[in-house]
Amino acid sequence: VYGVTVASVGSSGVLVSFMDQSSAEEIGQMRRDFVANVSHELKTPLTALLGFIETLRGPARNDDKVRDRFLEIMEREASRMNRLVRDLLSLSRVEAEERIPPAEHVDMGQLLNTVCNSLAPVAENKGTSIRLDVAGDVAVTGDRDQLMQVFTNLIENAVKYGGDGDVDVQVTMLPRDPAVRGAAVLIAVKDHGQGIDPIHIPRLTERFYRIDSHRSREMGGTGLGLAIVKHIVNRHRGRLRIESVLGQGSTFSIILPAA
Ligand code: ADP
Repeated sequence: VYGVTVASVGSSGVLVSFMDQSSAEEIGQMRRDFVANVSHELKTPLTALLGFIETLRGPARNDDKVRDRFLEIMEREASRMNRLVRDLLSLSRVEAEERIPPAEHVDMGQLLNTVCNSLAPVAENKGTSIRLDVAGDVAVTGDRDQLMQVFTNLIENAVKYGGDGDVDVQVTMLPRDPAVRGAAVLIAVKDHGQGIDPIHIPRLTERFYRIDSHRSREMGGTGLGLAIVKHIVNRHRGRLRIESVLGQGSTFSIILPAA
């Protein structure tokens, strides 16, 4: 259980910060819920796979068309399990490393350039694009791979849930930010999608919390992306800020202490 501090920022923003305040009993319950969730998430594609295998052994065996269609669905379900296992491993790794301070010098402009370039084809597929705007030299002391993961998750979400609009990624230097008690780097990922109802915002970083499970699954989501982001940001002593206006879009900002 995280003590979630939710503060209003302007008229539409919600600043969410987390502090672990769980009791032993709560930790036990969370563990049980987690195992139940994981089992459910794995069981759904597994049941589908077993069903299709059985059908392929029986009536569909000699029908080329049906067989191809079933194989396609089976591939999709297996990929879903694969993504889930990959994200579970990521989550367990970032949780294990949360208390180890990161030590690499990371040029944020360079890092975001790499992430935006690698996601450009995904945006292009949707007929949108990702714009990156970096104000000067900005660096943090961090874990390069984990920061890549943070921005990959946020920008991928912005593309996935951002409708037809482009995605704007903006990097600015803040001479002093109270959240990190000093100079900070602010990275804002802004989409122009349907936005998020404020009631969901404080819960978005919970494992497997999705606003629309069906839609998330359709888009290949595992429901773990923002939980992973939260742990990595905590390790970097940073903050995650989620602002959204229904019908206009959302901005996920990360504030990190500057190097
Ligand atoms: P998922 O794999 O489902 O995308 P995440 O942990 O990354 O899981 O996100 C959790 C949920 O938060 C998503 O299912 C979606 O409902 C919501 N969400 C995340 N990013 C956005 C966004 N940019 N706009 C609208 N909703 C979002």
